[in-house]
Amino acid sequence: MAEADRGTADWTGEEDALVEIRDLKKYYPVKGGILNRKVGDVKAVDGVDLRIREGETLGLVGESGCGKSTLGRSLLRLIEPTGGTVTFDGEDVTAASKSRMRELRREMQIVFQDAASSLNPRMRVGDIVAEPMEWLTDLDEAERRERTRTLIEEVGLSEEHLGRAPHTFSGGQQQRISIARALSVDPRFIVCDEPTSALDVSVQAKILNLLDDLQDEYDLTYLVINHDMSVVRHVCDRVAVMYLGKIVEVAPTERLFADPKHPYTKALLSAVPRASREAVDDRIVLGGSPPSPENPPSGCRFHTRCPAVIQPEDYEFDQAAWRAVMDLRQRLDEDELGLEAIRERVAAESGSTDGPDDVPDSAVRSAIRTELGLPERLGDPAAERTLREGLALAVEGEGERASELLGSAFATVCEEVEPPIETLADGRQCACHLYD
Ligand code: SF4
Repeated sequence: MAEADRGTADWTGEEDALVEIRDLKKYYPVKGGILNRKVGDVKAVDGVDLRIREGETLGLVGESGCGKSTLGRSLLRLIEPTGGTVTFDGEDVTAASKSRMRELRREMQIVFQDAASSLNPRMRVGDIVAEPMEWLTDLDEAERRERTRTLIEEVGLSEEHLGRAPHTFSGGQQQRISIARALSVDPRFIVCDEPTSALDVSVQAKILNLLDDLQDEYDLTYLVINHDMSVVRHVCDRVAVMYLGKIVEVAPTERLFADPKHPYTKALLSAVPRASREAVDDRIVLGGSPPSPENPPSGCRFHTRCPAVIQPEDYEFDQAAWRAVMDLRQRLDEDELGLEAIRERVAAESGSTDGPDDVPDSAVRSAIRTELGLPERLGDPAAERTLREGLALAVEGEGERASELLGSAFATVCEEVEPPIETLADGRQCACHLYD
């Protein structure tokens, strides 16, 4: 895409796509028990729909472990998807035979993050770049040699580098060699999986500019997988945000950065380093780490960390306090309130010689409120009464009953119903009940 249009592309996927991903899934079986039978699945990619237009750069972002690299590899069938379809230029890649898949590899390539380990240390650079042509094209040796020479110069190296071993190059140069190798078979689509993450900042910009130049010259379409939002902003036309195996928002880059809609996108963007003081104050710090994809939360997968999680209709109080109520519920559900540790800490801090068992329940309840960021009193009297009842049960050791009480009184649509990804009025796609 022309640089002037970068990041403003108003495309919602109605037109024909070069790559179309439908309900793509990649599950890994979890085995356990004495018979080592399958007891569950790690749902690394869980029902992803995405369309990539010819000539564009689509960014795919999300925290480490969200499934973005698995998605990139599954759509190329470097690993076999568990379900769903991928079409490339109208052809079902997921149904392609082995021999057809080999032909399709010419069209769909990948550049890996760790160039060093993806380059065979026993081969010379010239052979590394030429090898895919030998496997996947009909070019004769002279033609392969000529194309290798052209490509190595296109990526900013020179002919004299062709006879050297890959380990004699810097990280940035190794990535240039990987890019030349991917280009050797004249692909139309390249998955760039964190192509600059292992490089110094100064080298990163050069590689990104190189990818940009090559896109124009070779009419390439890119899927750029990256955890660094600044990189994505620099190179992508549109961005898809992924959380725990699912896409939660897709929007043109500039629109996403100027006005993120999904609470997870807002949190990701608030963490992008900015110079101003306000930016530091505005930072949204998500509680806890992402849940396991083996046992993802019900409803919206982000509800266990979402700062904007929707309150039940019957109550209305401060949103931060509501988030804290949800955190308390989660700790009780997972039996991780840590009552004993709290008692011990309160006893130690009291300065008296009383042991943990002598600490009054009221002091423990108050310590739980402090630890979770619950205010002394919720703004809604009915909610406060229920919370007190739940805390009293929890401190008496009735965690399960407390969990049930708070779970039924403070149920939210976010944990009950999975939000579908919908197209909003401005054309972006978002999966969040705030926009139902
Ligand atoms: S559906 Fe609810 S929990 Fe999920 S992102 Fe939207 S507000 Fe947050």
